[in-house]
Amino acid sequence: MGFRYAKCGIPSMTVDVRGLGVKCSECKREEAVVDLKYARKKLCGKCFSDFFVRRVKRTVEKYRMFGPKDRVAVAVSGGKDSVALLDALKKAFPEQDIVAFYIDLGIHHYSEHLREKVKALSERVGVPLYVYDLKEREGYVIDDFLRTKFRSKMCSVCGIIKRGVFTQMAAEVGATVLATGHNLDDTVGTMLSAFFAGDFESISRLKPVLKPLIPGQPKKVKPLFNTPEIEDLYYVVLNDLPVQECNCPHSFGASVSRYKRMLDQMEEGNPNVKYQLLSVFLKKLVPMYERVKSLEEGGVSAPLEVKECRICGLPTSSSDGVCSKCRRVALLKEKGGQKLEVSPEEVLEMLRRGERVMFIDTRKREVYEGERIRGALNIPREEFEANQRRIIKKLRRKYGKRAVFITYCYAGRESYPVAVALQRGGLRAYSLKGGISAWKEAGGEVETLTGVEA
Ligand code: SF4
Ligand code: ZN
Repeated sequence: MGFRYAKCGIPSMTVDVRGLGVKCSECKREEAVVDLKYARKKLCGKCFSDFFVRRVKRTVEKYRMFGPKDRVAVAVSGGKDSVALLDALKKAFPEQDIVAFYIDLGIHHYSEHLREKVKALSERVGVPLYVYDLKEREGYVIDDFLRTKFRSKMCSVCGIIKRGVFTQMAAEVGATVLATGHNLDDTVGTMLSAFFAGDFESISRLKPVLKPLIPGQPKKVKPLFNTPEIEDLYYVVLNDLPVQECNCPHSFGASVSRYKRMLDQMEEGNPNVKYQLLSVFLKKLVPMYERVKSLEEGGVSAPLEVKECRICGLPTSSSDGVCSKCRRVALLKEKGGQKLEVSPEEVLEMLRRGERVMFIDTRKREVYEGERIRGALNIPREEFEANQRRIIKKLRRKYGKRAVFITYCYAGRESYPVAVALQRGGLRAYSLKGGISAWKEAGGEVETLTGVEA
């Protein structure tokens, strides 16, 4: 059973769950399907899942992540890490008060999909789900940032918004602990990149437990910080958990961090390398850095001055008293509305006005060749994904900034991310609402192999 996974921010990751031709090193009965080289074990599906849950339990206990009285909120995005975390935590601590948090970021086609997955997951695991709908609660969505200067840094804005919202949700439902799905590869990859930048402060923030800055904030814990990323995916697949199946449109063009790739290469020669680095960072570097810092500050670490944000009331240490989330949201208010989708009627109107409209069919070549909107170019979505930069450059050179690009597919799901990426590349682009069928219904022209039809 092969499973291709589209991760938030990373194009894909594949696991192949297949018999390894040897018996499981634990139960000695079933055929092994997962090879854990660093632990010199080959495990069957059941023994692997038990091993996974045991590690989560041990990690929580060893680092005292929470106690029996805590209400633990798990930040669930629908991606493999948080999905595995919620299921494993509940199995490891069946008596614990655990709830799931989901933020509907309003990322068109994507957030709806994830919301369904997370709902199914929380029902299956048996924990209450709290959903924070960004549009309903705050009046904007992540897609809106495409019209701000942050359009090339969507994930960083999104991260800041999510952080603020989780703090607020925790306060609303009385969660004392917030658990997130950061895995070993995330942790060591980020540590390495911060190390090369000499940013030891960031490394010390990667500790598996972060105490609240001010009373009332939840404690932040990472029960998967020592779980290799690929094992989260194995766990999800072997337990058949509902998980995200499509990619965020804003992650188009994002690539796996250089350092994560480097670590994967190093792992080929040394299966333990990620654990070794983790241990050096957490046991040697971070304590040393913290000692030096406190000496520099005269033995007492200067308390960070934390106040309440003037706008939303969440804690912030910024000098002007406005938190980084509110500062970004304020930008949206300055700009007028800009949309990402247009209806066929609006496009017909653009044509009547004599605007230079270029259609881009994002479906597969065979389909495009069968029937397409008159004059449309064909850039299949996968081809676009692979050569995004080059294609945008070419379109800009060939058609100029004045042209309006209308992307379409059958129903809009495939063409939407392409329109998002084109807008991010500075072009005027919209996705056609309802796709080619709505276009035909509205009386738009299509061409087939045999000629033009209205
Ligand atoms: Fe993830 Fe970035 Fe999409 Fe936010 S914008 S959901 S961080 S890929
Ligand atoms: Zn604020």
